[in-house]
Amino acid sequence: MGEFELIRRFFAAAGCAQAAPGVVQGIGDDCALLALPAGEQLAVSTDTLLAGVHFPEGADAFLLAQRGLAAAASDLAAMGATPLGFTLALTLPQAEPAWLQAFARGLDVMARACGLALVGGDTTRGPLSMTFSVFGRVPAGQALTRSGARAGELLCVGGVLGDAAAALPLVLGQLSAAPALAEPLLARYWTPQPQLALGQALRGKAGAALDISDGLLADCGHLASASGVAVHIELARLPLSAPGRALLGDQRALECALSGGDDYRLVFSLPPGELATVQAAWPEVRVIGRILPGAGVQLTDAAGQLINPPHNGYQHFGSIHG
Ligand code: ADP
Ligand code: MG
Repeated sequence: MGEFELIRRFFAAAGCAQAAPGVVQGIGDDCALLALPAGEQLAVSTDTLLAGVHFPEGADAFLLAQRGLAAAASDLAAMGATPLGFTLALTLPQAEPAWLQAFARGLDVMARACGLALVGGDTTRGPLSMTFSVFGRVPAGQALTRSGARAGELLCVGGVLGDAAAALPLVLGQLSAAPALAEPLLARYWTPQPQLALGQALRGKAGAALDISDGLLADCGHLASASGVAVHIELARLPLSAPGRALLGDQRALECALSGGDDYRLVFSLPPGELATVQAAWPEVRVIGRILPGAGVQLTDAAGQLINPPHNGYQHFGSIHG
């Protein structure tokens, strides 16, 4: 099967590559053309996933496609952007129809869930890797950024933290667990759901926002330095993964919540007056701390005692996330 046959059969024919709002030209020409309504800006982000670095060699193609696209789409959620389309640059060791079929099906599932159309890409031969570029639109000047947090705002997260990191020992085959315990964790690792609707709803409300891709501590550090504020996190308020606690115990579930990066939940600052409205629509949103004058990330324990966050986070806890 040649390159063009492969593109035609598995990508141009995919449901997510068919005509979609805002897509003037999809797969098939030298560029895709996207239409942007007047007064809106284009939000663009790119993510590369490499076999053996970002996912295990031999990973299931159906799940891999979903995880790759979800991770990229999560950046649109973090900016409050409305998804338009994406491109896929795929490098494959060989053109294996069953693998490609499963990969395209996975792509379709996540693209549909996110409202993203496949508008182009590139296909080459080599060690397995994939680069997703996502495109979204946002009213001019209204994108959520990392730099907008102000002292006095609450620090919030979009839901339970640490499920995906807790799943990692299962993904890597270092642990096994009964399906009732393993399945919800594995689902959060392989098929994270980018918080796109929440991100869009936070436009005009949140001070700053980002998606947790490097771990809560590291990402709050980014928010603190970009905004010129201190981020104060109360450990007792972190919504921990229940199956994570059952699998790994409380201490490691807490480490997963602080340093696990693969949940793709949003973390954002919010003026206290906006909380009730946001939680009415998103009850899973939790306040985990507040924004203070100063710099850096501060942690306090249940007794209100300041804890020094480990300088490099919990790197020993590890992640194949790069
Ligand atoms: P060019 O040589 O002009 O870069 P290509 O021959 O690489 O174009 O690709 C032909 C068309 O197929 C282009 O529209 C490109 O965007 C699209 N395409 C190539 N690979 C993929 C892929 N993996 N997924 C989706 N579209 C693809
Ligand atoms: Mg090309």
